[in-house]
Amino acid sequence: MSNTKYVFVTGGVTSSLGKGIVAASLAKLLQSQEFSVTIQKFDPYLNVDPGTLNPYEHGECFVTDDGAETDLDLGHYERFLNVATTQANNVTTGRVYQSVIEKERRGEFLGKTVQVIPHITNEIKERMQLLGNSGDYDIVITEIGGTVGDIESLPYIETVRQLINELGDENCVVIHLTLIPYLAAAKELKTKPTQHSVKTLMESGIKADVLVCRTEYELTKDLRQKLALFCNVKPEAVIQSIDVNTIYEVPIKMLDEGLDRVVLKKLQLTPKSIHDLSHWQSFLKKLKSPKTTVKIGLVGKYVELQDSYKSILESLIHAGTLHQVAVEVESIHSEHLEQNSPVQYLKGLNGVIVAPGFGERGIEGKIRAVQYVRENNIPFLGICLGMQMAVIEYARNVKGLKAANSTEMDENCQAPVISLMESQKDIENKGGTMRLGAWNCNLEPSSKLVNIYGQSQISERHRHRYEFNNNYSQQLFDEQFKVAGYNPETQLVEIVENTDHPWFVGVQFHPEYKSTVANPHPLFSAFVAAAFSHSQD
Ligand code: GLN
Repeated sequence: MSNTKYVFVTGGVTSSLGKGIVAASLAKLLQSQEFSVTIQKFDPYLNVDPGTLNPYEHGECFVTDDGAETDLDLGHYERFLNVATTQANNVTTGRVYQSVIEKERRGEFLGKTVQVIPHITNEIKERMQLLGNSGDYDIVITEIGGTVGDIESLPYIETVRQLINELGDENCVVIHLTLIPYLAAAKELKTKPTQHSVKTLMESGIKADVLVCRTEYELTKDLRQKLALFCNVKPEAVIQSIDVNTIYEVPIKMLDEGLDRVVLKKLQLTPKSIHDLSHWQSFLKKLKSPKTTVKIGLVGKYVELQDSYKSILESLIHAGTLHQVAVEVESIHSEHLEQNSPVQYLKGLNGVIVAPGFGERGIEGKIRAVQYVRENNIPFLGICLGMQMAVIEYARNVKGLKAANSTEMDENCQAPVISLMESQKDIENKGGTMRLGAWNCNLEPSSKLVNIYGQSQISERHRHRYEFNNNYSQQLFDEQFKVAGYNPETQLVEIVENTDHPWFVGVQFHPEYKSTVANPHPLFSAFVAAAFSHSQD
């Protein structure tokens, strides 16, 4: 039996209140007092993982070192805590049911009727305690996706109720994140929706210990007291979470409000040390006082939804802060570049990222973007599909291989410079079958990438099915356009570089998944530095 303590984070009133950020902020405060802490997210949808979800549905799919395709909140956890997450940190209803049904088929339930309670709830319970039972953590924070009252999340809420009973009240704390809306006509903040959602939680047998209240305006003392009274929490457990300019300010706001203090008190823990947030504070200070601005274009096909490229945007913030420059990101829809001249979209930018993606839509626009930045010496970072487009562009426009394409876009193309990986050829299922997670890459000694990374072997996270077709190596690569990194086992091209250009790098992997506040990613850092130089030209 481990001594792990459990924090459960539920959401009320509406979705998108930022449970992930609040959970990550609390974890940061606990970590800064030397507690070892991890966060896990339980998502109530039936997909086994978000890998098969369109970014419009669910934002970016975050990938872990161990190759799990997960919710984007895991990205926040890693960026805040600087600790890698794994498959165990994200569980969906689909995965829970899959596992229970597989057990049923194996006959593990010995003739019993398989039911939501106890079989589904037992499965959830096991998974909720998996990380805690490892003995590696003092505190496990469990975020329950969705909003209290949703039919989908009922089994999770019921499991939390059972767990609190089993583990003991002193070992568990429930944080309920809620919204205090402002009614402009009445000029008033309203507590009623919160009262109702706390009541809904109560009907499921769970008492909220702490209320974290999202609000646009300061909560008055009276309002806090009213919330405490009606929602049956201690006055100090009414925590205001006021809108801020950057998510990185939230831990400091939570510290000021004493969120970690009430949590530790409920868990009967004493801090192991005083908070050490010096690095975080200096990051924030730099973030808020940039010396100049660079403009980066982000070319993608999901740009209408900011969450689609969450990790890329955050990586740019980390890198910008390191150099004390504000990175202004201009989202450019790749389809618009197909209809109009790229000049009007790309002129004046200090750097361009061509984003990852799948499928044909907007592809030609991405290729036109690459051509423009290559010819106009604008720093370029191509990520995954962006790298593949850089290869196609060079093949078509410099090497005269007009038919160059990826077999993802045109299965029968005459010059498949990007083609399906051998290991993918017999795969029929779409879910969880890409080349996923951490793979090694050896950097070419002469490449500037060695300097950028400060080492010659790196490990980066992947999520793709297609690769550079090595049959075209001779024809395509030359003195300028070079391979800068290979997978040591398979010779898969991981990085291409154009040395006849101020800064032009395409990577088959996703560096954005590994950038954190404590460790801004070297590639993004070098890219932003190049954009800064460009802005000075
Ligand atoms: N669609 C491309 C592939 O599967 C690129 C994937 C990506 O950008 N993540 O190889």
